[in-house]
Amino acid sequence: MTIDLVTRREWGAKEPRGSYGRLTSTRGVKVHYTGGQVSPDIVGDHARCVAMVKSIQTHHMSGNGWMDIGYSMVACPHRKVFEGRGPGRLPAANGAGLNSGHYAVLGLVGSSGLIEPTDDILHAILDAVEYLRDRGGAGSEIKGHRDGYSTDCPGGPLYAWVRKGAPRPGGPATPEGQPTAFPGRILTYPPLMKGDDVRIWQRQMRKRGWNLDVDGLYGERSRQVCRDFQKEKRLPVTGAVDRATWEAAWREPVV
Ligand SMILES: [Zn+2]
Ligand SMILES: [Zn+2]
Repeated sequence: MTIDLVTRREWGAKEPRGSYGRLTSTRGVKVHYTGGQVSPDIVGDHARCVAMVKSIQTHHMSGNGWMDIGYSMVACPHRKVFEGRGPGRLPAANGAGLNSGHYAVLGLVGSSGLIEPTDDILHAILDAVEYLRDRGGAGSEIKGHRDGYSTDCPGGPLYAWVRKGAPRPGGPATPEGQPTAFPGRILTYPPLMKGDDVRIWQRQMRKRGWNLDVDGLYGERSRQVCRDFQKEKRLPVTGAVDRATWEAAWREPVV
């Protein structure tokens, strides 16, 4: 999946006032909502998304006195991703002292009106996360603004999705050979874990040439294969199939 990016020029961003703090990597991404009213009408009209992002930038620059919009990227209901500060640049939306640890991605839902994120908003958030990983060295964490900061953000429904592990909507039942979405549960051992997600991962690893049984049980052998695979792909060697490790099993070339 390639990202459907709305560049700063395309959405008519104002020029930043000053220069950005630089970031070469982060632990991951924090997810945000607007905290205010979002008209459900934006779902039928992308021009309203554009107007909303522009007004957020104005509010951040004129109201908060920031040098630019505080978010790294903004995800809208049309599965489009607005370029905010973008990768490699320090965001401002996470709270003082918390911006170098995580990029900041806004989903266009609020505390009234459009409260529940649509599937396309969730897809767009994950498209933004992947983009920030590829271009900005974002780590594997996906957290909410309220993790480590006193706020309601990103609101109940969006935060519940974050807590589930931020799964792709519709996953993991995708056709043979297609990348299978991270199911949201991190596979670890001990104790022994079992389930369809284990079986799907084992089948994929077997397809890649690893010698392990597809028995749906994540035990010692699965953990060893996971560690060896993480070593090969230069991922943190944890023996736990987290999102980054899961996705690498489909994305990374077999060597
Ligand atoms: Zn927030
Ligand atoms: Zn839109």
